[in-house]
Amino acid sequence: MRNTIVDTIIKALYFLGPLKWYLGLKNYFSPRKYILMFHRVTDGSSHGMKAISISNENFISTIETISGHGDKIVAIEEIDNFKAKRDLDFHLTFDDAYKAILDRALPYCDQREIPYSLFPVTNFLENPKPYWWDIWDTALELGEYQILNFSFFEYFPNAELTIDQNFSHLDYNTLKSLDGVTREEMSCHILDKLKKKHVGIDIDQSFGWNELEKVVGDNVHIGCHTSSHQFLPYMDHDQTLSDINQSISKLETFTGVDLKSFAFPAGLYDQASIRAVNCFDFSYKFSTECKSFTENDQNEDRLIPRFNINDEFVCDKKGRFSPAYFYWNLIRRDQHG
Ligand SMILES: [Zn+2]
Repeated sequence: MRNTIVDTIIKALYFLGPLKWYLGLKNYFSPRKYILMFHRVTDGSSHGMKAISISNENFISTIETISGHGDKIVAIEEIDNFKAKRDLDFHLTFDDAYKAILDRALPYCDQREIPYSLFPVTNFLENPKPYWWDIWDTALELGEYQILNFSFFEYFPNAELTIDQNFSHLDYNTLKSLDGVTREEMSCHILDKLKKKHVGIDIDQSFGWNELEKVVGDNVHIGCHTSSHQFLPYMDHDQTLSDINQSISKLETFTGVDLKSFAFPAGLYDQASIRAVNCFDFSYKFSTECKSFTENDQNEDRLIPRFNINDEFVCDKKGRFSPAYFYWNLIRRDQHG
């Protein structure tokens, strides 16, 4: 009897497998947009978080692959137009306005009139300095566990459960949940120590208003990414409104047009933060969910998912750029199936 039941379950799974594939493929052929999220596009001369970095060469190869494949890179205004049944439409976004993208990535897009969206953090445009995640990641990369250990335990003497003893792994969720002022203080402290020990060290950072002025062009859309890059689920309603308000007013004064888009810092949101963001009139709100954007996503909250593109996303196991891996990862990691 038991064997018969097991047998029936196995047979059911056997038939459900192809069905899942069929449904997945059906979904795959429905009109969709691929929104790619870039952060650092770099020549490797500066330090920064690897998970959000891609080399200049791999970035250019990715764009050439998309264009060579006959797919189109569209402007933000076209990402919710699902009428056109062409191959695949892409949109490029750059978060945090990293200095490194000024060297090749943005000039490359500008020369070819490739449209893209840029999400700078206004406090960092005013006072360009490295972001905390790049500072911590660099300390980890350089094996400076002592510096991290000292900084962390100085502020949180009872925090041994939040970070493992060898610092082989940083618990970013713990760091994200700290209040912004404390985290900033700790990060400045780590940065000072790193600079003393590694004289001339270059940690990538945001560019400033002057550089933004040079970047602005017909192909560039500028959106709001808050003033402080604090994570919205850890802020209260009023703090969120005031942080976003300040950023909007500075960017609108700068661009002379109404801001139409918003990107959640680190893609983090909850119902309360969505409510706060909905107080503003944004047409496009971006998350960092690893999904393509389909007509089905046009629900009430209408958050637009994005793929985080880094070197690992576009390279094969040997670390070489591979068009096949890039497309395969888009399909394989697409949570729409
Ligand atoms: Zn960001």
